[in-house]
Amino acid sequence: MPQGKDVVPGRRSVGGSGSGNTTRRNAFCSFCRKSYRDVGPLVEGPGDVYICGECIELCQSILDQEQKRKPQKKLFNEIPSPRDIVTHLDEYVIGQTGTKRALAVAVKRLSASWEGGNDVEIEKSNILLVGPTGSGKTLLARSLAKMLNVPFAIGDATTLTEAGYVGEDVENLLLKLLHAADFDIEAAQRGILYIDEIDKIGKTSQNVSITRDVSGEGVQQALLKMLEGTVANVPPQGGRKHPEQQYIQIDTTNILFICGGTFVGVDEIIRKRLGKKSFGFSPGSTVKEEADVATLLGQVHSDDILEFGMIPELIGRLPVVTALAPLDVPGLIKVLTEPKNALVKQYQALFGMEDCELHFTEAALKSIAQKAQVKNVGARGLRGIVEEIMLDVMFELPDQEPGTTYTIDVDSSDGKVRHFKSIPQRKESA
Ligand code: ADP
Repeated sequence: MPQGKDVVPGRRSVGGSGSGNTTRRNAFCSFCRKSYRDVGPLVEGPGDVYICGECIELCQSILDQEQKRKPQKKLFNEIPSPRDIVTHLDEYVIGQTGTKRALAVAVKRLSASWEGGNDVEIEKSNILLVGPTGSGKTLLARSLAKMLNVPFAIGDATTLTEAGYVGEDVENLLLKLLHAADFDIEAAQRGILYIDEIDKIGKTSQNVSITRDVSGEGVQQALLKMLEGTVANVPPQGGRKHPEQQYIQIDTTNILFICGGTFVGVDEIIRKRLGKKSFGFSPGSTVKEEADVATLLGQVHSDDILEFGMIPELIGRLPVVTALAPLDVPGLIKVLTEPKNALVKQYQALFGMEDCELHFTEAALKSIAQKAQVKNVGARGLRGIVEEIMLDVMFELPDQEPGTTYTIDVDSSDGKVRHFKSIPQRKESA
């Protein structure tokens, strides 16, 4: 098909300006059957075949979609080795080596199930991430999807409710994935879905309310089916399903489900299982406590999750259980400075755009990390603290002389983190 040109040798435009071909004034598009009077100039092919501009555009978008899909197909055959996956994740996520390894191995399995054609049918293994807020659960799942170039969506288990209650159907999670895949069903069927707050679904859920029934049997059953592999009916407009609606069918067999939860108190369950004594909360022992929690979480087992109160059927569908350690102050400093898109690097790039420089002293970084740690929301707290410090500087930055250097440091007079400005020396030559 001639693309982008409407007149090529042997094919010409009919009825368009300058064609002067009056004998074909009653020609119509062979694809949509519309007359050139309705759709404008037509491109002629051999044997009285015509195509209109609208159909050319449609064909182009189909070809574009196909093109978009191609690199993914290629990627599926070239899933990196687990070691390479971990190396790649290291660029974005600090620490959490055990979880990175577990994810890398699970993805390798997943790629085998994508490819199929094996004598032995290889099943994917969904993953359960246990770890405190802001330790990198979502970031890991997102980074993995980005690396594999597969659609990625995030859902929240607490918004899922049984029909008749206020909330969402389980299928809406799949709709999010479908959105992320630009409604390419085949791509969505190989996507990664991260379901947060999975620890809130279970027999011992405290989330009891009149309008929301998150622990309802219906939700659990629907979720279980989805995790295991089913052909789900997804309402394209979202919302509640109703009988007259048209559904999009999505096979969840090859979707990788990564579920995450904080599982507050699971460390105590592990401690008990291991027969260790509790350290208690003596003042000044926070570092020890943290290291202790990290070591305990590192030994998490399905049985601990079972004892925590999650229903066995759900645990059965999440065969890989891995824990993320809470980030300590040195870890938080690394989060600020080391990842490819680290907050400090982002600000430095912004300053670079204004021909200015930005530095953070070790003391400032440590102070920011300590403040975040007190908030108890892990690395999640860092952005807010840094943004507050940077607000005034960002406001005045565009008015600064090129070459101005800002240093973010701890002010010795009051111990607060502030910016200190140094204006460049005037150059002698003009
Ligand atoms: P959660 O464990 O609650 O899902 P997130 O992954 O959403 O935490 O982390 C929130 C933010 O904190 C991320 O966007 C990222 O900037 C930062 N962060 C958290 N953990 C890490 C980590 N291990 N390495 C680098 N950044 C992290």
